[in-house]
Amino acid sequence: MKKDGDVINGMDDWESTLDNIDWKEVLQEIDSALLDNLAAELGFRSYELLKRASQMLTPDYYLIHLSDGRWGLWSPTHYKHQDPIFAHSREEMFALIQDGFQLPNEEAVQYVQETLDSVRQTQRCIQCGFEFDPGDPLREEWGMESGVKAPEQFCSPECAMESVVKQLKKDHGWE
Ligand SMILES: [Zn+2]
Repeated sequence: MKKDGDVINGMDDWESTLDNIDWKEVLQEIDSALLDNLAAELGFRSYELLKRASQMLTPDYYLIHLSDGRWGLWSPTHYKHQDPIFAHSREEMFALIQDGFQLPNEEAVQYVQETLDSVRQTQRCIQCGFEFDPGDPLREEWGMESGVKAPEQFCSPECAMESVVKQLKKDHGWE
């Protein structure tokens, strides 16, 4: 059974534990967890991959065009209190941006149109189901062409390999 003294000692421990926590590090960890949540909401494996597949509209807003045809507008700075905004078409996304940013002149309209044009539609990996950018230069470095059937269907060499292994197992009746 615990005595009062134990509880107080326990609190001391708690306080010294709190004192010893590197809060900056903790907050950074929370931030990166939240950013990964944001990425998951948009169908990506990680924040890094989401950012790579997106186009910057302003430093505060990025555009993404998902494999199911939806467009998304998300913020790397306001993500804690602002969910991504989705549109079903390019026109709808343009209208949302025009409303939200109150585009002041023809030049701004032109800029938004060009940015929309530069967004490459992502694909969905048939192995893991995550979105990926088929035009990511990283893919060339991976050299996925060797031995993988239809490498363009996979987000990564890992997924391509998993699929090969799965097929092998199936062919040999191992599962
Ligand atoms: Zn994958």
